[in-house]
Amino acid sequence: MQMLFRQIPSLDRLLKQPQAVEFIEKFGYSAVVKTLRLLLEQARVSIQQTQTLPSFFADETTLFTQLEHQLTQSQKVELRTVFNMTGTVLHTNLGRGLWSEKAVESATNAMRNNVALEFDIDAGKRSHRDLYISQLLQQLTGAEAACIVNNNAAAVLLMLATFAKDKEVIVSRGELVEIGGAFRIPDIMAQAGCKLVEVGTTNRTHLKDYRNVINENTAFLMKVHTSNYQIQGFTSSVSEEELVALGQEFHLPVISDLGSGSLTDMKLLNLPAEPMVQQKVAAGVDLVSFSCDKLLGGPQAGIIVGKKAFIDQLQSHPLKRVLRCDKVILSALEATLRHYLFPEHLCQDLPTLHLLTQSLENLQEKAECLKNTLSKRLDSRYILQIEVSQAQIGSGALPTERLPSLALTITSEKQSDLLALEKQFKSLPCPIIGRFSEQKFWLDLRSVAQFDQLIEMLSLNP
Ligand SMILES: *Cc1c(COP(=O)(O)O)cnc(C)c1O
Repeated sequence: MQMLFRQIPSLDRLLKQPQAVEFIEKFGYSAVVKTLRLLLEQARVSIQQTQTLPSFFADETTLFTQLEHQLTQSQKVELRTVFNMTGTVLHTNLGRGLWSEKAVESATNAMRNNVALEFDIDAGKRSHRDLYISQLLQQLTGAEAACIVNNNAAAVLLMLATFAKDKEVIVSRGELVEIGGAFRIPDIMAQAGCKLVEVGTTNRTHLKDYRNVINENTAFLMKVHTSNYQIQGFTSSVSEEELVALGQEFHLPVISDLGSGSLTDMKLLNLPAEPMVQQKVAAGVDLVSFSCDKLLGGPQAGIIVGKKAFIDQLQSHPLKRVLRCDKVILSALEATLRHYLFPEHLCQDLPTLHLLTQSLENLQEKAECLKNTLSKRLDSRYILQIEVSQAQIGSGALPTERLPSLALTITSEKQSDLLALEKQFKSLPCPIIGRFSEQKFWLDLRSVAQFDQLIEMLSLNP
C-alpha cells in the first residue's frame, strides 16, 4: 500500500507541468488546483478501499486528459436544450414556447447594448419602461393603458394588493382555480392581504349571488378564466357584461384574470376558441390580466390592460418595482406584440402558432422522415409505426381540447428494451423527451421545433 501511495504525484509537481500551466491559463488557477486536489483525494480513497489506483492515474497524460475533461464539464451550463416530443406544445416544464426570430434579435440587441429603457430621447428626460408596450397594447386591444410584470401570477397579485388590501373580493365558486406550482386563487388573495368572498356554487353562479354580498368593504368583482378545467352539464355563470353593469351600479371595478387569453381570433386559425383580450376590454372590464408566454407566444411576462386611472395606481404601487421586467424581456415582448400588427403573418412568425397550426400533411412528412432515420439506428427489437395522436396546447390553455396530430410510436416485445431506448434518447447531446402510453413510446410531431436539427442529431450520433 505504501508503494501505491508513493506513486501519487505531488500537487506542486503537477502544477509545474506544461499541461497544467496551459490549463491554468484557460480555466484559472483556483479551478485547476481544486480539481487536481479532488483527483488526488480520489486516488488516496481508492488505495485505501481497493488497494488500487484509479485508472486515470496510469500515467500523467491520462491524468491530464481526465483533468481537462472535468474542467470542461464544470464550465458547461446544465440547463440543457431538449426536443419536445411530448405532444404538449406549451410545456411549462420544458420552458413553454419559443420566441420569434424578431424577439430573439431584439432581446440579444438589448443584452449587448444600452437601450433607452426609461429615457425619452427627444425630451432628454426620464420616461417609463412600460411606455412603448403600453402604446402598442392601446392599439391592439383598445385599452387606455398597460402595466407589465414578471408573469400573469404577478399581475394578479399586483391587482389584488393594489385595490383590495384589507378588503373583500367577490369571486364565483366555479372559478377558484388552481393552476399548479402552488398558484391558487384563494392563496394569492391571502398573500395580497384580501378577503375572498365566494359566491354561488361550483356549477352555478347568478348575478344576484354577487349583488347579495356587496357591502361597503367590497373592493371589486373578479372573474377568473377557468383555463385548465371545464364545468359541464347544468351550469350557469355571469358574463363580464353583466358584472360590469352591476359594478357600475355600486361604483365597483371589475377585473378579469384571463390566464392565457389571446390577441387574435383562434377560430380563424382553426384552433379552439380562447377568450380575446379586446372583447373583455370592449365589454367594459376595468382591468384584464394575461400571460405573455402562453398563446401570445412571447417571453415570460404578465400584462395588465385597462382604464388609465387604475393602471396608474398599479404603476405606483411598491410591488410594481419588485415585479417589473428588465430590458431584455421588454424588448422581446415589444417585438412579439409587433407581429400582431400583421395578423396574416402570425402563424409564420410566431413559433407557437406555427407549431399549433401545422397541417397533418406536413406532420406526415416529418413522421416519415423521422421513421426512416430511426429505422437505420434501431435494431429488429423495435417496431416503428406512424399513428394518429392527440396533442394539446398546454399551460392550461384550452385543456379539454385536443389537437389532431401524428406521432411515431415505438414498441418492443420486452418492456426493458423500450425503457433502455428511452434512456438512450435522453442521453443524446440534445435529449429527446417523449411519453409512454399503452405500452408504447410516443414521439409526437406537433410539439417539436427545430425538426431538421433533430434529424441531423439522429443521423450523426451513434
Ligand atoms: C396560467 C394562469 C395564470 C398564471 O400565469 P403565469 O403567466 O403562468 O404566471 C393565472 N391565472 C390563470 C387563470 C392561468 O391560466
